[in-house]
Amino acid sequence: MSIEIRDLNKKFGHLTVCDQLNLTIGSGELVALLGPSGSGKTTLLRIIAGLEKSDSGSVLFHGEDATDATVRERQVGFVFQHYALFPQMTIFENVAFGLRVRPRSTRPSEAKIREKVHELLQLVQLDWLADRYPHQLSGGQRQRIALARALAVEPKVLLLDEPFGALDAKVRKELRRWLRRLHDEMHVTSVFVTHDQEEAMEVSDRIVVMNQGRIEQVGSPDQVYDQPATPFVLQFLGDVN
Ligand code: ADP
Repeated sequence: MSIEIRDLNKKFGHLTVCDQLNLTIGSGELVALLGPSGSGKTTLLRIIAGLEKSDSGSVLFHGEDATDATVRERQVGFVFQHYALFPQMTIFENVAFGLRVRPRSTRPSEAKIREKVHELLQLVQLDWLADRYPHQLSGGQRQRIALARALAVEPKVLLLDEPFGALDAKVRKELRRWLRRLHDEMHVTSVFVTHDQEEAMEVSDRIVVMNQGRIEQVGSPDQVYDQPATPFVLQFLGDVN
């Protein structure tokens, strides 16, 4: 599912948060929105998701205008920094949730749900935790489950907002590999927000560098690193967090 952003503008009061943005994300790409805090990354992600309305401009999914489509119609999956799993449900039930709440006509059979959930739990190598509860898992394990849960409903697009932000450096590194691996298995068009250049470099196919609501550069990690297009990109990538 390709995503196209055309002439997108968004203000909060007098603050311009998305400033005439144009961007095309190819089907099956993993793209990082990278920039400092307040540069508009989350707002752009929320507009792609349908959680926020733009003031003008359009969002196209697979060439079709989705600007007025609801979150459900867009068939997006989410992983957030504090995307809490349901504490009273087992890991298995958490991953199965999105499939169980489907309308009867599209709901898979119980046997299919079981098969699908175990497949995903095996993919994140946590099948052995299926009967545990979220509080019995580490933060890194919980985010792997959150990834499995988001993918269970076979979203057309996966949106991740600082998914590993709350975790320590070692776990973050491990989760980056998980995200990359899951993406290579599932080929879901994915957009993830980060302020961590190392994370963007390691995980993504392309990086969109944002600053003050504008796109400074779009390119592969190598392009952005070797040929920064603006002084801002040069300075931002030079900064080590
Ligand atoms: P980033 O994800 O890059 O940190 P955001 O998109 O979250 O940036 O925010 C961009 C700017 O918009 C920030 O200055 C933020 O305070 C402001 N902002 C975000 N959401 C709202 C809102 N609902 N109301 C008012 N201002 C907002």
